[in-house]
Amino acid sequence: MISERLREGVRDAAGLSTPYYLFDLDAIGQTAESMVQAWQKHFPRFTLAYSYKTNALPGVTTLLQKCGAAAEVVSGAELSAALADGFTADRIYFDGPVKQAGELDVAIAEGCLIQADSLTEIRVLAERARHGAEPRVSLRLSVPRGRRRWSRFGLVPEEVAEARALLADARVPIRGIHFNTGLHPLDAGPYRSVLRHWRSTLRELSHGSDGPFSVDIGGGFPAASCAPGRALPPWSVYAEGVAAELAQVGLPPERLHLIIEPGRSIVEDHAVLVASVAAHKRRRRRDTIVLDAGTNLVRSINAWHHPVEFLRPGGVRYDVYGAMCYESDLFAEAVEGPADLQVGDRVVVGAAGGYDIPSANVWLRPHPAVHALAEAGATPVLMREPGSEIR
Ligand SMILES: *Cc1c(COP(=O)(O)O)cnc(C)c1O
Repeated sequence: MISERLREGVRDAAGLSTPYYLFDLDAIGQTAESMVQAWQKHFPRFTLAYSYKTNALPGVTTLLQKCGAAAEVVSGAELSAALADGFTADRIYFDGPVKQAGELDVAIAEGCLIQADSLTEIRVLAERARHGAEPRVSLRLSVPRGRRRWSRFGLVPEEVAEARALLADARVPIRGIHFNTGLHPLDAGPYRSVLRHWRSTLRELSHGSDGPFSVDIGGGFPAASCAPGRALPPWSVYAEGVAAELAQVGLPPERLHLIIEPGRSIVEDHAVLVASVAAHKRRRRRDTIVLDAGTNLVRSINAWHHPVEFLRPGGVRYDVYGAMCYESDLFAEAVEGPADLQVGDRVVVGAAGGYDIPSANVWLRPHPAVHALAEAGATPVLMREPGSEIR
């Protein structure tokens, strides 16, 4: 679904050269605010930590920082970016399956919460603590994947037992737990099921420490593109479900610090890729057009739901190809467009605000510009020069 505001923005910005991405930053701020409101009703201590890997454009991350969000990072480079964007270390959560020793040292020195993914990491942290450092540590728990199978991320029960022993030996308190379902559910079911699975561990860990105990349930909240044609549930559905499940753990509400790490739900629907018709041909008795942008700029085009629309409506169907030099660079087939099609007509690809921008590649042409809507009718604000690095 492409919002009317974005569509209007593209119409107003007829003078911008294509291709470019266009963001609705107001919608991003509003989404973050509505999530916070829904969760705070159930959790007085609550933090929304935006997932940097989803899209770390400074225009997005600094906006979220100003809205009161925290940052979730998965590498030393993202950690540095979050510090540069103005997040204080106590508002940065260091996740990810690989944390190099040097990256851990920076996170320890800064005081970020390190959500340890493996025993290898735990051993480094314990060793640093024995030499006087004071790492702030929580445990990433693995999530069940069917019968007797676990996700490759996080710690399984035997590893949790060993992690606890190693950290206790080094006098490092365990400040919380973390997991990420890796799903985009339309209800709280998967979050509840992971919490239920680990209920006794949660009880033991939280009762064995004092001070705030963080329960970080990761991301995975849906964007509209996760459920094309269906309405998304209100955020309160997730908050209520998780609150009901956590009530079973018996952690006093004043100690429980609930953290969510949304990425896709915050940004995905609020940007489009804008391209122009560059050529028009007939192939297999069908109208075929070639755009001035390739699917390398929206790499999940086949795996994900991305609406593809002409800005000018009409009843003729076109197969819409990209600018790359390979046969299958196809955006969509049979897209309705104007009968009097012209070179330069705009085509808009929706749901482009998330993972597609950081994972776009620069084959054939440099990264396109990124613009953000200002007021209606005004020229959008430039967020990233064409040809820049991904951030
Ligand atoms: C990718 C990721 C997220 C964000 O996931 P979304 O599905 O985009 O909300 C949050 N937490 C962790 C650990 C991640 O790896």
